[in-house]
Amino acid sequence: MIKNDMPTDGLVKQGTPRACFVCRKNLETVHIGDTNTDMPSGGTTWHTTGNYGSAVYDPMPGFGARPRALDILICDRCLEERKDLVLERTTRTKTVHSYKTWDPKTSD
Ligand SMILES: [Zn+2]
Repeated sequence: MIKNDMPTDGLVKQGTPRACFVCRKNLETVHIGDTNTDMPSGGTTWHTTGNYGSAVYDPMPGFGARPRALDILICDRCLEERKDLVLERTTRTKTVHSYKTWDPKTSD
């Protein structure tokens, strides 16, 4: 039987084991983060702030709503089994230069 430790009142205490989003296997907490972010043992935490296009989750924080996100856990086994559906994102910073006339007296 699958054990689900999620509370019925909606408030989740830090360190509460949570289930994998895919297989529902419970993942214990390996580290309780300083910012209320628990790290699961044998899995990863995933967040989304929603997006335009979703008919289910798009809180639009830029339009007055409080910043919020959905948060799920995926166990390592489920992530590896579905690796063909996963993209790894790399962030690159583009350097943009601006130019102005040079004045040695005011240049810093
Ligand atoms: Zn799983």
